[in-house]
Amino acid sequence: MSCTGSSRATLGDNRGLERKIAIVDEAQCIGCARCIEACPVDAIVGAQGYLHTVVEDWCIGCELCLPPCPVDCIDLASPTRTWTPALKGAAGERGRRRQQRLRASTVQSHDAESRKSILAALLERK
Ligand code: SF4
Ligand code: SF4
Repeated sequence: MSCTGSSRATLGDNRGLERKIAIVDEAQCIGCARCIEACPVDAIVGAQGYLHTVVEDWCIGCELCLPPCPVDCIDLASPTRTWTPALKGAAGERGRRRQQRLRASTVQSHDAESRKSILAALLERK
């Protein structure tokens, strides 16, 4: 697997177009992690406060990571490796797992009556 940076397209919608990948200019990256939040297939690795990079074989070229970058350090480039059906399938699987993860972490809001009950119970404890 090779690591580079960037590209544009949603899962599988770049048929007939030359595939591009995202590339991070690591000298400019400030480690804000906004690109990681935007990537639908978890193709970016890094941690808050550290430089980030794109895994070339995982990038589907959707470009969703470009707009959130506050220092505009993500660009598109031609891939150096062949995009295979296996890699495409793996990207789809990562996308599905990401969706599951996001759904699982959704904060459930309480309705108005529940909020009143919770608040009343909290006040009674004082
Ligand atoms: S959001 Fe992810 S898949 Fe899309 S171009 Fe950026 S790194 Fe590649
Ligand atoms: S959004 Fe840009 S600056 Fe922030 S971590 Fe990603 S590449 Fe680095």
